[in-house]
Amino acid sequence: MDKEWAKKNKRIQVLLGRESTYKEGIELLIEFRKLMFEQISQIINGYPDRAFYQMPFANAKGYHNKSLSYSIWHIFRIEDIVAHTLIKKDEQIFVIGDYQRKIGSPIITTGNELQGQEIEEFSKKLNISALYEYAREVMLSTNLILSNLEYSQMKTRYSDEDKVRLTESGCVSSNENAIWLIDYWCAKDIFGLIKMPFSRHWIMHIEAMRRIKNKLCKNARKGVDIVAYCGLSCYHCFLGEWCGSCRTDYNVCSFATESEDKRCPNVVCCMEKNIDGCYECSELEDCKKGFFIPNNDGTAAAKAQAMFIRKYGKKAFLEVHDKLHERFYFAKTQEILGQDMHEGLSILENEYNN
Ligand code: SF4
Ligand code: SF4
Repeated sequence: MDKEWAKKNKRIQVLLGRESTYKEGIELLIEFRKLMFEQISQIINGYPDRAFYQMPFANAKGYHNKSLSYSIWHIFRIEDIVAHTLIKKDEQIFVIGDYQRKIGSPIITTGNELQGQEIEEFSKKLNISALYEYAREVMLSTNLILSNLEYSQMKTRYSDEDKVRLTESGCVSSNENAIWLIDYWCAKDIFGLIKMPFSRHWIMHIEAMRRIKNKLCKNARKGVDIVAYCGLSCYHCFLGEWCGSCRTDYNVCSFATESEDKRCPNVVCCMEKNIDGCYECSELEDCKKGFFIPNNDGTAAAKAQAMFIRKYGKKAFLEVHDKLHERFYFAKTQEILGQDMHEGLSILENEYNN
């Protein structure tokens, strides 16, 4: 488990366990859930449709042997069922919002009954924007429920009547891989439910989603030129686990995601000029487009790298990058190359010649 997340989760559980710190625990939990949800938002915002049904770890053991869209579906169907059918005893967001139709799902269950190829087939059918809208609504609704829960309710337990209600809802499949969920949830008090479906379950699946998207990005980069249009090296980029390169449709460079058509202005411009990258452009030094906007603290470093490629070529550029990464610890190239493109170029040249 992500060390930071594990630490946060542990602290939240300790705070929730004492009446004097309970409210603080709930506030932290909601904050933590928002933080984790941001990862889902970023994934939704950046990747092509096929990324959501592909299963790069289909044969592995663990939460990561699923698809991205199945993971989102599963986290929020479980949360919706537990929060509304079990705890609040009211209608699920899924029903109120007509989400089965909007998402286009053939099932209303948690999805635990699906295995291997069935998960991929199921995932292909889902409308990702509607699924995201559903997930967001469930998250906000549960946050509200959490805010209104009192410490005195933490020990609330569930009965056979609750089990019958869950069974009759049809939201848990009778398949042996799913039916155990009803006994599992009903054996817990509210504190136990907060611990699993509302926090730990998120952590496990969102971490698995991170592994899936890392692998998809890595796969997308295979056989692709790893020098970005602007002159950065995708291979050495601190965003490499999120972005599959601007030469693929896994491009989540911030300048692409912020553009209306999700295309980085530097990529568009290079394509219009029919050149391989900004390093082939005579306007490079004065350019203010995309990554090269003046208020970007990485502009000078990016230009320095493009200028280096123009002078010495990509092979030399990648070698210099390897050397720099061996000698220094840094995430963004501006930490090494500074804020002046000519000085940045000299730093790269010195490294190359030594
Ligand atoms: S952000 Fe740019 S340099 Fe980094 S991986 Fe994406 S395209 Fe490549
Ligand atoms: S004008 Fe700017 S963005 Fe366009 S190719 Fe030249 S350097 Fe790149």
